[in-house]
This record gives sequence, structure tokens and C-alpha cells, in this order.
Amino acid sequence: MTAQLINGNALAQQVRTEVAHRVSALKSHGVQPHLAVILVGEDPGSQVYVRNKVADSEQTGLNATLERYPASLPQEELLARIAILNADPSVHGILVQLPLPKHMDANLVIEAIAPEKDVDGFHVASAGALMVGQPGFRPCTPYGCMRMLESIGMKDLRGKHAVVIGRSNIVGKPMAMMLLAANATVTICHSGTADLAALTRQADIVVAAVGKRNVLTADMVKPGAVVIDVGMNRDDAGKLCGDVDFAGVQNVAGWITPVPGGVGPMTRAMLLVNTLEAAEAAKT
Ligand code: NAP
Repeated sequence: MTAQLINGNALAQQVRTEVAHRVSALKSHGVQPHLAVILVGEDPGSQVYVRNKVADSEQTGLNATLERYPASLPQEELLARIAILNADPSVHGILVQLPLPKHMDANLVIEAIAPEKDVDGFHVASAGALMVGQPGFRPCTPYGCMRMLESIGMKDLRGKHAVVIGRSNIVGKPMAMMLLAANATVTICHSGTADLAALTRQADIVVAAVGKRNVLTADMVKPGAVVIDVGMNRDDAGKLCGDVDFAGVQNVAGWITPVPGGVGPMTRAMLLVNTLEAAEAAKT
């Protein structure tokens, strides 16, 4: 069997087109959605991420501003800047790029963002809303994974068993909660899980969010399963690759996401959705 590809690039383009239409509608009501992105320090990966976020926003008709600060910025000054953005009605979304310099407490900084502007979905209020099934911002990566599942007709996951490998606060845990909210039976695995393969072999959906190559190999996958690869790693040649042994797993799975061109572009697209929705909510 050769798995069908879930094309993250194509789906992200669809999402951006939908966002662009809704942005136009908002603009006709005099509202210009605005994302404020804050970068502290010089982390090379973060610089690429924030540039992409700003470019994506502008291409979709959203206004995006990037504020850069040196790594030496005192935490108090960052908190003060966030307070100003919180109070600014022209700003709908605030994103502080992680990681922050070591002298800062990332939890404290994220909690300083007003929940109604928390477009990354990392605030404890957003996490709590997801937990109890209330509306709120969903973290972009698992939100994008859910859109990928919907795109192949998997919206209501009643009767399906989903295995999530990884339990971080930004991917694994919210992913599990979203799958549960879609009525899947969910198993969360991590570094302390005994016999991971025995669990993944039972799964109709496997989401790998670990950050290690070849965590999921063909012998660990049920024939026909949907495999979502969140991981971002480098192979021996320095090329971007995921957590899944793509070459092997594609012969067993029913559907699979590639890396690159899978979850990454969807993560970027869902930030636009969250920012748009923040602006729509502010208008009403
Ligand atoms: P993280 O915070 O390092 O979490 C990794 C998780 O994997 C942990 O829960 C860890 O278990 C678990 N783990 C480690 N080794 C394992 C093993 N051998 N078997 C089973 N579980 C294992 O990472 P993250 O922030 O969630 O990111 C995960 C990956 O996704 C990274 O490659 C990251 O770059 C990528 N990512 C991609 C996107 C995107 O847009 N494509 C977005 C975010 C993240 P413990 O909890 O027990 O330590």
C-alpha cells in the first residue's frame, strides 16, 4: 500500500485564501486585523520564524508589526511593552517568539498577554478553555493538524483511536485534548512509555511530536492508519526531516504528512486564522 499525501502546502494556501476573504470583509467594516510580533534576542531560528509570520500576515492582508529587542532587555521592560499592546485597541493579536533569553520567565511573559490577544494559544486561559471545551485560541500546530484531519474527512473521530507521541504544552497535550474533543479515544505517549510500538500499532491516527528522527517506523503502524508528523529534525545530509521514517511508513499508512510541506505550513496558516478571529471578536 502507498499512503496518500496530506499536502500541507496546498491546504495552507486554501486556509490563507479563506482568511484573506474574511480580512477583506472586516476591512469593509473599518477593522484592520493587526498582529504584533515581539522578538527578544538574536536566535537565528526565531529570526526566520518571525520574518515568515510577518510576511504571511502581510500577504494575507493582515497588518503585522515586528518589534525587536536585544537579548539584554530587562524582563520588566518586556512586560511593560506587553501591557501597552494589551491596552491598544488597534492590536488584535500579540505573539512573543519563544525561546526567550535565560533571564526571563517565559510563563510569566506569556501570562502577561491579554487572553483575548493570545493568538499563539499558549496562555493558561487558552489551555484551560481547551481543557473544559470552551471557545478560545488553540495552539497553532495542533490546530493545523486537526485541519489536516478534517481535510481527509476525519472531523468526528468517534470510534477512532489516536496515539499522540509527545506531551509538550504547545503540541502534545493540546493535540490530545483536540482529538478528545473530536470524540477520538486518545493515548498520550512520552519518554517514559513502555512498548510504544504496541500502542501505535493499535492506532487509527498517530501524531508524532517528539523531535527525534525515526521515532515511528513502518513496523509500528497499523495498515491504513493516518500518520501526522510534527517533528522537525535534520538528517545526516542536513536536510529537514520529521520524526517519522517516511520512506518506510508510507508503504503501510493510509495517509501521511510530509516534512517539509506538512504540519509546518499549516502551523503558520493557523496563526493567521487566530489573528483574524481575534479581530472579528474585537469588532463585535
Ligand atoms: P518537546 O517539548 O521537546 O517534547 C518532546 C516530547 O517527546 C516529550 O514529551 C518527550 O517525553 C517525548 N519523547 C522524547 N523521546 C521520546 C521517545 N523516544 N519516545 C516517546 N516520546 C519521546 O518538543 P515539542 O516542542 O513538543 O516539539 C516536538 C517536535 O515538533 C520538535 O521536533 C519540534 O521542532 C517540532 N515542532 C514542529 C512544529 C511545526 O510547525 N512543524 C511546531 C512545534 C514543534 P517527556 O515529556 O517524557 O520528556
